[in-house]
Amino acid sequence: MGLLSGLFRSSEILGIAEETLEFVLESSEATHPNEYMGFLRGTEASRLGLDRDGLVITDVLVIPGTSQNSVSATVKTNSIPNDTKALGSVHSHPNGVLRPSQADLGTFTRGSVHVIIGAPYGRHDWQAFDSDGKPTTLHVIDVEVPDEDDFFHFTQEDIDEELKWN
Ligand SMILES: [Zn+2]
Repeated sequence: MGLLSGLFRSSEILGIAEETLEFVLESSEATHPNEYMGFLRGTEASRLGLDRDGLVITDVLVIPGTSQNSVSATVKTNSIPNDTKALGSVHSHPNGVLRPSQADLGTFTRGSVHVIIGAPYGRHDWQAFDSDGKPTTLHVIDVEVPDEDDFFHFTQEDIDEELKWN
């Protein structure tokens, strides 16, 4: 069990970044009365300055090809990227019902945390579910999410540092 528990611990989902939650709430409201749908991705907590193992949800991969039907959004299976970093999903219910539909339960098997956002898209108009569709706690973490650019752009200082050692 040693190795397995170690793996599980390192991929533990600690929560969702506050600005990411705000982003999905705003996006869901902007998409109303249609459904908003995306996949959740995470960043290692240590890269966000947290002294913990685990992942924080920091990114949403918005799914193109989501049905424009406001009753039920259907994601075309072939448009789902084969992305091993996806931790789960997020989608909105324009009718405000914070419960997974039968169709939702079928898709929740992919990933471990699934967020449903309901109209009127206020700060508390959402609920997280596990892959069985049971309500689960998702902590909101006040952490600064770096822009992608910050990860991949070297500063002159970094370059100088590289040159010094080569
Ligand atoms: Zn749904």
